[in-house]
Order: sequence, then C-alpha cells, then structure tokens
Amino acid sequence: MGKKTFISKVEAVLEKRRLAKEDIIFLLELEKKEELEKIFCRADKIRKELIGDDVFIRGIIEFSNYCRNECLYCGLRRQNPGLKRYRMAAEEIIDTAIDGVKRLGIKTILLQSGEDDSYDDGKIEMIIKGILRDCDCRIALSIGERGVDSYKRFYMAGARRCLIRFETSNKKLFGEMHPASSASKNSFDDRVRLIMELKKMGYQTGTGPIIGLPGQGVDDLAESIIMLNKLNADMAGMGPFIAHPRTPLAGEADGGIEMGLKMIAVTRICCKDIFIPATTALQSLDNENGVERALKAGANVIMPNITPKRYRELYEIYPGKANIHDEADRCVESAKDAIRSAGRDIGEGYGDVKRRAIEEKEGQQGS
Ligand code: SAH
Repeated sequence: MGKKTFISKVEAVLEKRRLAKEDIIFLLELEKKEELEKIFCRADKIRKELIGDDVFIRGIIEFSNYCRNECLYCGLRRQNPGLKRYRMAAEEIIDTAIDGVKRLGIKTILLQSGEDDSYDDGKIEMIIKGILRDCDCRIALSIGERGVDSYKRFYMAGARRCLIRFETSNKKLFGEMHPASSASKNSFDDRVRLIMELKKMGYQTGTGPIIGLPGQGVDDLAESIIMLNKLNADMAGMGPFIAHPRTPLAGEADGGIEMGLKMIAVTRICCKDIFIPATTALQSLDNENGVERALKAGANVIMPNITPKRYRELYEIYPGKANIHDEADRCVESAKDAIRSAGRDIGEGYGDVKRRAIEEKEGQQGS
C-alpha cells in the first residue's frame, strides 16, 4: 500500500505541466530502479514528441590545454604544473575540422580549449573563416569568457553556437570554485550576463552545471534546471563531476552516473525541446553504455572527440576521460553505434536548435 501510494506520487508529479522547484527536487532524489525508469520513460516520450528521433553529432576539437584560470575542479587549471601543455596551430585546427566534415561527415565543429589568450580574437576569427571557407558546417565555440565585442566578431566571422556553462547556480559556490585571477574576476554575475548577451547576439547557446560538485546540494541542481529555462538556453551541457588528483578537489566523490542521468531526464521534462548532449563526463563513468543510457533518458546530441590522437591525453580536465586512445574515426563510429542501439536516427542536417516559447510547448505536450 505504502509503495503504491509513493509510485503514484511520482506519476502525479510527472503528469504536471509545469514542475515547481519542490517537484524537481523530489524527482532528483528518487533512487529506486522502477521510479527512475518512470522518469526516464517520461523524458524519452517528451523528447520523441517534441524533437523527434534524430540524434545530432558534433565533433569536438580540443585545440589548446593552456588556461589562465584556476577553476578548482579542472585539470587544465594554471596551477597544475604536472600537465604537459600543447597548442594546435591554426592550420592544424582548420585541417582537422575539414577532415571531420569532409571525411567523417560531421556537420558541427565544436572548438574547445582552456582560456588561452595566445589565440587572440584575430586568430579565432581566422580559424572560423578558414574552416567555413572550405566546408559546409556549423561552428560552435567553447573557449571560455571573452568580451562581448570578441563574441560579436566571431559571430560576424560565421560562428553560430556557443557553449559556456554557468557551472553551478549557487553564486557562493561559484565564487569558491572560480578564484579571481589577474586575467579575470571570474564572477557568477559576469558569467550569466555573458550567456544572456550571447543569446541576444543570436548564438544558439549551451550552458549548464557540473553535476555533483563538492558542496553542491540537490537544491542547487534543481535551481540549475530552472535557470536553464530562465536563460532560455538552447542546449543543456552538463556532466557529472569527476575529481582530478592534481587539483584542490582531489579525492572528492564523483557526481555519479545516476544523478547525471536523472539530471538529463528532469531537464528534458522541465525544458521540453532543449537540446541535451550525452556528455563525455557521463560516458566516462560508464564507458560501455553511458551514451546509450543518456539517449534513452532524454538526450539528443553526442559530441565525439575528433582531436588528433597525440593531444588527447593532454586535454585532461578530469582523469579516465572516455575515448582518449581512439582515433577520430572510431569515436564517430562508436557515437553512431550508440545511436543505432538506442533505436534512434543519425541526424542528417546541421541540427540547429529552434526552441519554441515555453507556453506553446506546455500546451502541445498534452499529458
Ligand atoms: N575553457 C572553456 C572550456 C572548459 S572544458 C570554458 O571554461 O568554458 C568544458 C567543461 O568541462 C567546463 O565548462 C566544465 O563544466 C567541465 N569540467 C571541467 N572540469 C571538470 C571535472 N573535473 N569534472 C567534470 N566536468 C569538468
């Protein structure tokens, strides 16, 4: 009897058109297998109704592991002297992107790096134009905080997507995790303002939290989901925290695959037609099935790594990163395998995000 009542509470919450913060917390705290199945199933149904079966592939090029920042969780932080640093030359980045598009059939190139000022705005612009001159694709940037004018310039050069996480919705925790440096104040308000500016400029903007940062409660995670809606984010980029032994957070517990999957599912339920990738961090916690499980819990994007193999190990934001020993071809193939085994379709187009107004989505979703 007790059990039956409890299950029906899960169902009642899942039927709601709009979830309150307490509902989100309730769902994120569920642990029993059959309860989780219900959440994943609901998320999967919403995904199918609102955005269909296509899964879009974005190829990541991690072009530099130099970073001016000291983010407590990240292995690329400046004060990790044990890490061998590398920078890819502009030509090499362009060639890698062209190979990804022309040979591997990738439609979005995601350029990611530490916050490395040696790539000044002119150089980033040149790389964007160099790629677009030779191939038909979308370009997404994940290069950290730069001024609004810099991002305007990159947009003019042809970049259309941007990925910059708010990392945690808790301002105090954000401050603790991101010490100010000579290069940047690293403030939560500045980060959020930049995300809003990027949206205004016309970028399809991805953001989100690290899941399970030390000191982060489920309240913070619920707020993160609410924040994704407030910011009208186009994509929810989020993955479980994985402790790096050469950072101040060495030895801390990781965020866990279950919470990673629950966050995907509850984000899908609350943010409806947002795009959600099965992130590398999630995959790293379950190399065999992580991607497929994410796809079945509401995700619709995969980001295989197409960085030249010799740099892979050096882009060590956390240890045990998935696919670091695989060639680009293999990474793209295993993304496609995961899509097929989840019974989904490989997205053919660019996979542009076109979110509708939230009211419209709530109306359409039915119950
Ligand atoms: N310099 C860029 C890209 C950083 S790497 C930027 O700051 O936007 C991309 C993401 O990896 C970060 O935004 C962070 O959310 C995530 N990350 C870093 N260290 C991590 C860790 N130890 N565990 C899980 N995710 C981590």
